[in-house]
Amino acid sequence: MSILNADLHCHSTVSDGTLTPEALAKRAKANGVELWALTDHDEVGGQHRARSAAQALGLPWLSGVEISVTFADVTVHIVGLGFDPEHPALVEGLAQTRGGRGERAREMSEGLAKVGIRGAYEGALKYVGNPELISRTHFARYLVESGACKDTSEVFRKYLTEGKPGFVPHRWAQLGDAVRWIREAGGVAVIAHPARYAHNPTREYALFSEFKAHGGQGVEVVTGSHAPSEYPKYADMALEFGLAASRGSDFHSPDESHTDLGTLPFLEGRLTPVWELLADRVQ
Ligand code: AMP
Ligand code: MN
Ligand code: MN
Ligand code: MN
Repeated sequence: MSILNADLHCHSTVSDGTLTPEALAKRAKANGVELWALTDHDEVGGQHRARSAAQALGLPWLSGVEISVTFADVTVHIVGLGFDPEHPALVEGLAQTRGGRGERAREMSEGLAKVGIRGAYEGALKYVGNPELISRTHFARYLVESGACKDTSEVFRKYLTEGKPGFVPHRWAQLGDAVRWIREAGGVAVIAHPARYAHNPTREYALFSEFKAHGGQGVEVVTGSHAPSEYPKYADMALEFGLAASRGSDFHSPDESHTDLGTLPFLEGRLTPVWELLADRVQ
């Protein structure tokens, strides 16, 4: 059923969100979410807390994760849903994917020091809830705090994106590996916010084709990371590639996110919702 207030994409303090898994569950419930997943970056350490909190609230829950992948030299995010968070191949793959973040963060700090912003590594660390998961978002929060920029979007624009002083190119997981870890753990793989990637149409087509060939089954259509004008294109692509459609706010923080949990439009009726593939995985 397309008319379900499912929110299958958000972040907690276990990655780069500012709310705990418990606070997110409460907020989702208060906002009328009917099916919820916490999808921290490259990390399933919050899944147990998310499940307990959701169950205490009577909020139907699916396991979730958002894996960083490098495809055609561009960072792509793959969401996994409804998997076993203890599956060894997934746990090991995620640990490997997180592995380079510490070194990358030090290099980001060096790049920022060259343009006069000192102590960014230590500053970012103050915002980190999980020492294995230092991300650009934590640097962005510190640069706002230090007065270098007025908000986090300005930080990304001026300092943390390709070609800017704090940007460090990084090689994440391979697409086929990320999809395989999710599938081996019994879950469904979903392309996150496809409109956000700097791919030309040929590369975008290649991403969808290869994802499908690796066993990927879904794509986010209605997401807080897309403009509403982008929904129809990805609804069409979901149908063209025979992918189920997902919906999620990508909520990170009450102070930073434009889209709150559970507030997006419903999926169009012509789409197969990804939760139809996951009915027996809901807890
Ligand atoms: P990382 O995994 O360390 O490369 O950090 C990626 C995270 O940065 C994303 O998950 C978003 O939360 C955040 N991000 C990326 N681009 C932007 C942007 N333009 N404005 C605000 N946050 C962004
Ligand atoms: Mn994020
Ligand atoms: Mn993402
Ligand atoms: Mn996300």
